[in-house]
Amino acid sequence: MWAKKNPSKLWTPGQTLRIAFLNGTPEFKAATISAANNWLPHINLKFEFVEGEEGDIRILGKVGTFSSNVGTDALLTTDEPTMVLWPHSPIHARYFAANVIHEFGHMLGAEHEQTNPTANIPWNKPAIYAQHGITDDPEEDDYQASVTRERLHQEYLDRADPDASIYSEYDRKSIMHYVVHQSWTEGDFQIFHNLNLSEKDKAFMAKAYPYPVENE
Ligand SMILES: [Zn+2]
Repeated sequence: MWAKKNPSKLWTPGQTLRIAFLNGTPEFKAATISAANNWLPHINLKFEFVEGEEGDIRILGKVGTFSSNVGTDALLTTDEPTMVLWPHSPIHARYFAANVIHEFGHMLGAEHEQTNPTANIPWNKPAIYAQHGITDDPEEDDYQASVTRERLHQEYLDRADPDASIYSEYDRKSIMHYVVHQSWTEGDFQIFHNLNLSEKDKAFMAKAYPYPVENE
């Protein structure tokens, strides 16, 4: 797992985060709270879920996407949602829960694991470029191709600067990892949709949000 260090987007350990639901059915809220609470045993933060528009975090239920501001970036807006969650029917409960845990990982400050400073994914760049309709040569890009290339590098191919990050060792089981298709890599390497917090996820966040050390 990893998070940006400069500037840090982590909340203050011990803090209670007010998390407001801007909309949604009781089932949507209950499923969200249940999934989000998977983080709580591992961190010194509290979640206070409330109704209405007042909250450090503001969740909008909306069909079509999952997204979240990263960590304290949520405080940079006051009237926009800071997290968007795509409601799903109960037959997709595990998929929905995995995505909620992932978005709450962003909310706690985490970035995507495939760009961990120590990631060692054997990318097959020509194959990835070809599958996105671009060539190996940036000189050949038109505007749309250059946007695609930049997105692929940001989301997948470029690793974060270790000096500007706090991180634990690259973890292919992290909830913050994107799916990686076999056809995007050399040799035998693919990542399926991770559905649960990994042991390294728990350990990283426990360090990011520590409890005070007891005096002996
Ligand atoms: Zn994400």
